[in-house]
Amino acid sequence: MPGWLDLAGTNHPDHQLDAVFYDRIRARRPSPRPAVEITILPGGARAFEVKAGQSFRVVEAGRPQIGTVALWNAHGPRESFNAARTMAAAACFIEPYVRLWSDVPQFRPLATCIEDTVTTDPAESEFHHHCIGSPCSTQTMERLFGLPGLDSCHAHLERAIAQFGLTAADIHDVVSVHQKTRLDPETGRITVSRSDAKAGDYIEFYAEIDLLVAVSVCPLGDGLVDPRDPLRTQPKPLRVEIQETGVDPRPSPAWADWRPSWMGSWQAPLATKAAR
Ligand SMILES: [Zn+2]
Repeated sequence: MPGWLDLAGTNHPDHQLDAVFYDRIRARRPSPRPAVEITILPGGARAFEVKAGQSFRVVEAGRPQIGTVALWNAHGPRESFNAARTMAAAACFIEPYVRLWSDVPQFRPLATCIEDTVTTDPAESEFHHHCIGSPCSTQTMERLFGLPGLDSCHAHLERAIAQFGLTAADIHDVVSVHQKTRLDPETGRITVSRSDAKAGDYIEFYAEIDLLVAVSVCPLGDGLVDPRDPLRTQPKPLRVEIQETGVDPRPSPAWADWRPSWMGSWQAPLATKAAR
């Protein structure tokens, strides 16, 4: 037994990552012609459904542009992407084979990253795509830049999901795509650099269940756009491409029902005591 525990490891036979399964999806998908193409303009977000077994890419349409991706179960949006569960069960930085998990009680992969074309220098200790942040909001922008009423991904997402009957209360954790980020091991602080993503670069996710997905064009542009700068570069569009992969997802293994033992461990004695 080593002197540490890898939280992303598993001894559960049904929960091993099958890399060959995802390699097969990557090899089979009928690119380059996407089934659906959505352009997301600066100043906004778009929400759309992705069926289980389809994939979606977030593509750089022009100059480097970071994006914010939120995911829900299309049939029950109380289940959504959970960053803390994902960081524990998989990783903080998103790359091929990293699965995006929902919270308990479902606690299952909603989507799996199958490809990332953004080049990151391994010597830099920085990564593109992560879930260690949160969607920028008008409040966080005011805290960062000292200006009230700034545009934000949170506001974009709120407007985009309204057509599906969701509100700001349904916005939780997100994946920040194309954003170049470093987690300082000494201070624990997060720093952002200018994205290295090039036109045509993309990150692609395979939908494990039917998903509602929302993608926002971040007002921070390449990651370092300062809204106080009158000469700042303006954010650029992002493009989403939805594809049929031709591969059906496998059902998520069910968790053992924990409730009988839980009831037995403390609620039953209380009930016995009350009956006396
Ligand atoms: Zn943002």
